[in-house]
Amino acid sequence: MIPNQHKYLIISGPCSIESHIQILNTAKALKKIGMVHILRAGVWKARTRLSVFEGIGDKGLLWLAEAKVETGLPIMIEVLSPKHVEQALAIGVDYLWIGARTTCNPHSVKEIAESLRGSETPVFIKNPLNPDINLWIGAVERFRYTNVKHIGLIHRGFSTYQSVNFRNPPIWVLAKSMRDEFPNIPIICDPSHICGSKESIPKIMRHAAKLKYSGFMVEAHIDPFSALTDKKQQVSPSELKILLDHIYTISQDKKVNNKF
Ligand code: PEP
Ligand code: MN
Repeated sequence: MIPNQHKYLIISGPCSIESHIQILNTAKALKKIGMVHILRAGVWKARTRLSVFEGIGDKGLLWLAEAKVETGLPIMIEVLSPKHVEQALAIGVDYLWIGARTTCNPHSVKEIAESLRGSETPVFIKNPLNPDINLWIGAVERFRYTNVKHIGLIHRGFSTYQSVNFRNPPIWVLAKSMRDEFPNIPIICDPSHICGSKESIPKIMRHAAKLKYSGFMVEAHIDPFSALTDKKQQVSPSELKILLDHIYTISQDKKVNNKF
């Protein structure tokens, strides 16, 4: 768990692990800015279309474990099945997250929750792709039912058919209802998947800070231009530092609200 003196829980890392050097260099650069608490990375990616990069797979886990040793940062991955959970826990993954596509599927959530029965490993649950609060509530209920002790929420916006400025527009009121439903569960904001490109990330982070979110998950890559997934929304480690400096500056007068 993250000590209380941190105003925000900061999770960052690449959308996907692409190579040994990419994850190690990203991890070291993120460690160096001194503001990241957890290193995130996607190993298995649920991609919409066939014939695109679907994640580096199992070997990425070993590289991520190496990045943990090199930097001392706890590591976090997305799990999409009980098998992923088993593999992740076996190599010492510290935090897990449930992706938006998985939250849409109660059966998958149930299986993953069962595979984590009684676990102390914290699980962050992203909102479902579609704005159905019951899917999100149901996912929390399933992890609680299997006695998963530490649960967090991630607001990553909702998919839409309309042409809007965001990739996945946030629905702050829906997330607020979720917070009202589970007042003791911390919620963080994922501005990367909300925005889809890095330009509007500061605006979304400012809004989440104003609403007293407990932290941020921001995708960062050592060389965003070469990223194989979510290229437009990934920031470099030095851009992340600028974003975080900004958010800490505007949040100075707000009290610490991080429950992690
Ligand atoms: C991700 O975090 O890389 C990801 C795939 O997110 P989401 O489930 O929010 O689309
Ligand atoms: Mn991504």
